[in-house]
Amino acid sequence: MHRTELRVAGSRIELVQGDITAQPDLDAVVNAANAELQPGGGVAGAIHRAAGRRLAAACRPLAPIAPGEVVATDAFRLPNRRVLHALGPVYGRDEPAAELLAACYRGALDLAAREGLDSVGFPAISTGVFGYPATAAAEVALTTVHQALVGGVGVRLVRFVLFSADDLDVHARALATLPDG
Ligand code: ADP
Repeated sequence: MHRTELRVAGSRIELVQGDITAQPDLDAVVNAANAELQPGGGVAGAIHRAAGRRLAAACRPLAPIAPGEVVATDAFRLPNRRVLHALGPVYGRDEPAAELLAACYRGALDLAAREGLDSVGFPAISTGVFGYPATAAAEVALTTVHQALVGGVGVRLVRFVLFSADDLDVHARALATLPDG
């Protein structure tokens, strides 16, 4: 098994296998949202179920959002302060896919920093029903987060919360290609 942690410029990237709705020590979690910011399958369904119905109501005036865009709401019954809703690209439709996916990670970290949130959890955005290949998506995700931390974005902990052991392994391989420090 590759390592699952990297220290970057006073911050930390962590990889865990788990459920994005069960991360009580994080200030914010990222939703792999749909354009309408409503419940659906996958991450969005789990986040809306755990947060309760007030989340959909809070989202309504902020929708629709475009691919690569990120907006923040209260987390309601989730054990976090905020939910950052990111719309990843639908693979094969929204182009340029890598730039739009990178914008989700970069935008979520910038928004977290603006809101004074120290720790953020990400699911593997776009790799479910949106069909982005897991290895390519993990490379975009890890390099984007690494660059943001090297560039001094003020977030202390970034945790990737991967649903499956396979997804954890794919992210660990991508993490292993990043420089230390
Ligand atoms: P998208 O529509 O952006 O593709 P999905 O929610 O369909 O997003 O899936 C994104 C990734 O999140 C997939 O790898 C999926 O297996 C995973 N996933 C689904 N539910 C959860 C959850 N509760 N916590 C963390 N990851 C999840």
